[in-house]
Amino acid sequence: MEINVEDLDTLSRLGEGAAGTVRKVLHKPTQLVMAKKVKKKKKTVYYLLTWGTHKKSISTEPDPNVQRQILRELAFLKTCDSPYIVSFYGAFLDDGDTTVSLCMEYCEAGSLEDIYKRARDLGGVIGEPVLERIAESVNIKPSNILVTRKGEIKLCDFGVSGVLINSIAQTFTGTQYYMAPERIQGNAYAVQSDIWSLGLTLIEVSQNRPALPPPDQPHLSIFELLDFIVRQPVPEIQGNHISEECKNFVAVCLTKDPTYRPTPARMLQHPFILKWENVHMDLGQWVKEVWAWN
Ligand code: ADP
Ligand code: MG
Repeated sequence: MEINVEDLDTLSRLGEGAAGTVRKVLHKPTQLVMAKKVKKKKKTVYYLLTWGTHKKSISTEPDPNVQRQILRELAFLKTCDSPYIVSFYGAFLDDGDTTVSLCMEYCEAGSLEDIYKRARDLGGVIGEPVLERIAESVNIKPSNILVTRKGEIKLCDFGVSGVLINSIAQTFTGTQYYMAPERIQGNAYAVQSDIWSLGLTLIEVSQNRPALPPPDQPHLSIFELLDFIVRQPVPEIQGNHISEECKNFVAVCLTKDPTYRPTPARMLQHPFILKWENVHMDLGQWVKEVWAWN
């Protein structure tokens, strides 16, 4: 399916990230409701590096050839078909071929960040069975984990475009908080780095606030923060409602030395996963309660 700008009607605004604005749109020919992300013009921050852990900034590249190359690379996303990944419908150029827009599956229940902020506003907490489903499904950071109306948990915004990666000049945005110590120290990306990001994500979703910067030192400069991640004790998941298995799972995710940090396959054998995976939990019902849908 090719998507054309004229075929889309904007329905509402869903959110704003460093990368651009996300809107709910109707694709008229198919009557599918989609989420459309339009890349910001100035100082675009794009997300396409190593499974979305690391948001990087590039300055605008109005060169249509570059934009077209990005489109070709994004086409790879169309071949991804997984219940754990937000479906990609297509990308197109707008504004005289200077802006990349992309259309993806609309996830009615928003991101885990939206959901834990909602829980915070309601004075609630997200319980351990939900944390286990998150750990089992995906990883990375709360705003890139989206939830469908049925309660399916899906990852979006992961890296595929080499051109984007090459045109990157690193800026320090909030996303660096999720970066593993070895990445801060400039080592190559490995899947273990995502396990680190998962640990921080579980703490954030469970405590309704980011794990870093540490709550008692909210005003660290970015350099102090990165130094903190490398040198200071790792954050912990806290609370009387959290089991020992869950605390240990998070602690193991946050093993500083990546050579001792378990692989995703090993993590799925962890007692925390085994404890909850066969316990029935209707996440569709959970999402209904979170957003008060009836
Ligand atoms: P970030 O991930 O840094 O928040 P994004 O531009 O990727 O920035 O997304 C901004 C917000 O838009 C998200 O936090 C989420 O609330 C919303 N959003 C993004 N993609 C979708 C989608 N496919 N369905 C529903 N909401 C979405
Ligand atoms: Mg995102």
